[in-house]
Amino acid sequence: MEKDCLFCGIIAGTTPATIVLETDDVVGFLDVRPVFKGHTLLVPREHVVTLSDLPEPLIVPLFSTAQRVADAITSGLGAQGTFVAMNNVVSQSVAHLHVHVVPRTKGDGLRGFFWPRTKYADGEAEEYAAKLRAALDG
Ligand code: AMP
Repeated sequence: MEKDCLFCGIIAGTTPATIVLETDDVVGFLDVRPVFKGHTLLVPREHVVTLSDLPEPLIVPLFSTAQRVADAITSGLGAQGTFVAMNNVVSQSVAHLHVHVVPRTKGDGLRGFFWPRTKYADGEAEEYAAKLRAALDG
């Protein structure tokens, strides 16, 4: 537990939150300013900041709860689908790793996740893929 961490406070029960699920490794609670109602945040109990910091044994516990919550959002709230996302460093407003699971329904008007798109020049896609493959191998 990290002193002064908002989400560590929620995990410890000293900061109020609407808890959705608790497991040995993960806590899920409603985002206080939801994109849509039911928007849930999943956090590892262990204080880590970004995905890179997440210990390997916690990857399956965290993402299997994301899967369970995404299923519950469709089966329990009637959403057609979900948007599952995580900000790391940039646009990350709370420095305790959290997965957003947001209910989505066609025509829900969500405009907030429009990203500018670009195109690869001839051969450039293969250059990028080669750099990524080299970094993955390294
Ligand atoms: P991000 O901007 O990706 O780091 O997401 C942080 C999220 O935490 C935002 O969607 C906030 O609405 C949410 N949030 C901030 N404070 C609280 C809180 N006390 N309880 C629940 N959610 C919170």
